[in-house]
Amino acid sequence: MQRIREADLTDAARRKIRKMEVGSKYGRLTIVGFAYLADRAYWTCECNCGETVAVSGHSLARGSTRSCGCLRSEVLKSYRKRAV
Ligand SMILES: [Zn+2]
Repeated sequence: MQRIREADLTDAARRKIRKMEVGSKYGRLTIVGFAYLADRAYWTCECNCGETVAVSGHSLARGSTRSCGCLRSEVLKSYRKRAV
């Protein structure tokens, strides 16, 4: 996978990713910087729990990724609790 830094992006690619802003919050994630460009732009996000993860802008915009994974495991835990 070819990784490209934000500084190497073309203007067109930069326009595409401009929607995402450092400091924006998506669920538990806060964008702290640009990660890399693969098939889509990835952002470095800091989770409320302190984890840092790279998430595609697409996932953030769709709301399909809202934590580093801790949210999912907590939800699973609460499901399990309810089932008992
Ligand atoms: Zn987390």
